[in-house]
Amino acid sequence: MSELMQTYQRLYDRYGPRHWWPADSPFEVAIGAILTQNTNWQNVEKALANLRAANALSLQRIAALDPEQLQQFIRPSGYFRQKTERLQLFCHYLIKQHGSIEILLKQSLTDARNELLALKGIGPETADSILLYAGEIASFVVDAYTRRIFGRLGQLEGSKTYTEIRDYFMQSLPHQAPLFNEYHALIVQHAKCHCLTKPRCLDCPLAENCRYLLDQQAGPELV
Ligand code: SF4
Repeated sequence: MSELMQTYQRLYDRYGPRHWWPADSPFEVAIGAILTQNTNWQNVEKALANLRAANALSLQRIAALDPEQLQQFIRPSGYFRQKTERLQLFCHYLIKQHGSIEILLKQSLTDARNELLALKGIGPETADSILLYAGEIASFVVDAYTRRIFGRLGQLEGSKTYTEIRDYFMQSLPHQAPLFNEYHALIVQHAKCHCLTKPRCLDCPLAENCRYLLDQQAGPELV
């Protein structure tokens, strides 16, 4: 079993299935992926609830909304002016090129990903979240928690950029969307329970193989 699969198994054994992404449709997932940039999911939920209450959570409605009104709906998610522009560009693009997010996501991973990445305001983490959670396409999502945990474990040596880290996961794991989905959710859970900014290493399920912990236990080097 690869090192990454062993880590997955330890996290799964500890935390169990996370039943992740709390959204109703591929379109809602895509909107959520844009809204969650630089904020947490609780704030995104509030923005989505506002859109839903106004019967505005649809491709056509978001595209047609007055930008100032859309800003008010999504205000809880922060950066609301920038996100309004991104949402409307995204929706206009979908209407013009495909008609729906489902059709865009019917393409190959490479084509769908390149198309998403070419859109203003959609970086690799957002694109991979849309592919994985809206399209159920096996594209691994790398976030700050992934960098923190696997950096501390010592598994990212030489991998620094988003692409390098994603490549490491894509090359080491079987390409299965449910696995990638669950793995990312477990990473988030672990980052909140143990591997916080200030790590709580006591009773951590990954302690046995953690470079950071080994270094801490070794103490400062003698010079
Ligand atoms: S042992 Fe500490 S640093 Fe290592 S993964 Fe666990 S919580 Fe993070």
